[in-house]
Amino acid sequence: MSEKQNKKRLGIYIHIPFCKSKCAYCDFYSGNFSAADREEYLFCLVEHIKRLAPTADDYAVDSIFLGGGTPTVIGGEGIARIGEALSISFHLSRDTEFSVEANPGTVERADLDTMKRAGVNRISFGLQSSHDSELKALSRIHSYSEFLSAYSDARDAGFDNINIDLMYGLPDQTVDSFAETVERVSALSPEHLSLYGLKIEDGTPFGRMRDRLVLPDEDSEYEMYLMAADLLRAAGYRHYEISNYAKPGQECRHNLKYWDALEYIGFGPSAYSYFGGRRYGYIGDLTEYIAAVKAGCEPIEYSEEITEKDREAEYIMLRLRLRDGITRGDFYDRFGIDFAEKYREKLSKYIFLGIMENDRDRYYLGDRGMYVSNTVISDIAEFDV
Ligand code: SF4
Repeated sequence: MSEKQNKKRLGIYIHIPFCKSKCAYCDFYSGNFSAADREEYLFCLVEHIKRLAPTADDYAVDSIFLGGGTPTVIGGEGIARIGEALSISFHLSRDTEFSVEANPGTVERADLDTMKRAGVNRISFGLQSSHDSELKALSRIHSYSEFLSAYSDARDAGFDNINIDLMYGLPDQTVDSFAETVERVSALSPEHLSLYGLKIEDGTPFGRMRDRLVLPDEDSEYEMYLMAADLLRAAGYRHYEISNYAKPGQECRHNLKYWDALEYIGFGPSAYSYFGGRRYGYIGDLTEYIAAVKAGCEPIEYSEEITEKDREAEYIMLRLRLRDGITRGDFYDRFGIDFAEKYREKLSKYIFLGIMENDRDRYYLGDRGMYVSNTVISDIAEFDV
């Protein structure tokens, strides 16, 4: 469908819950399902997309994100089928950002060509580290050299917008080994980099062996965070969100929607949506998701109405993740409230401590503030983060 005037913007997230094997730290909903399960899921997903699209008739979709799991497990053809279902069901903007997460161990050159033809214009590689020993400790299925070849295939296939995910705080990782990873990867000049600190989650292999893991201490992790910020700034990247860096103008539009508290619809088991004044999540189970969609039901596990108070707290929580922070004017336009006045005491405290910065009517977290953002944000927004 062609773009129409005056439509509200919408993002679409699609969860592909398939992985060849589980990484030791991962608590996302995914697993190694059979080819028949994958085919049945794709079929249901397309049905679900067609069924829900009319509820978003007043919206123009300007970002699509296929995440997981490992979307590239369904191959270029599977991704093209989803892209086609979206383009015939929703109003897509002419310049829609269409991102697909790719595991370097599951992507072939032919898949990249097929994705490109299907309209995918952004690839997000989950690399995590340039050291094979660290990749092995995470149970990643690829080596650094396999990543390099997948990255070069993506460039050859014509992708000019590539993100690379990295992790710090890994078992046996040092500040030097992380610096080496950041330097090697930034030398490839991807348009975007995401850097996440490892979190040990219950229910994962790492969670079960947490007492035996040799992890960098808190000071080293902080050093890694600041060192990466310095290296990437010097390499021309803007640290535009706590965990994200982009070349000028290459910020991820889809993720910016989350942080701008704009609407999005999710499809697939465990996918969340923020749409029509509600936040809701689908059941994190492939079989139950498929059964519900086949029965013509919505596989909703959780749903809540967003009150005005929630909206305000969420906006503070999300916007303070961004380097652009919160401006009094934007805040007033959204909530009819003077942000600086209402939160004066807390803002003054964090400015005094050097955690928050204030530039005319804009309030934002500096490097140190971004590192301790959870504590600061939950204090200001009075929200559990
Ligand atoms: S590839 Fe990604 S989604 Fe799959 S297990 Fe590893 S971290 Fe989790």
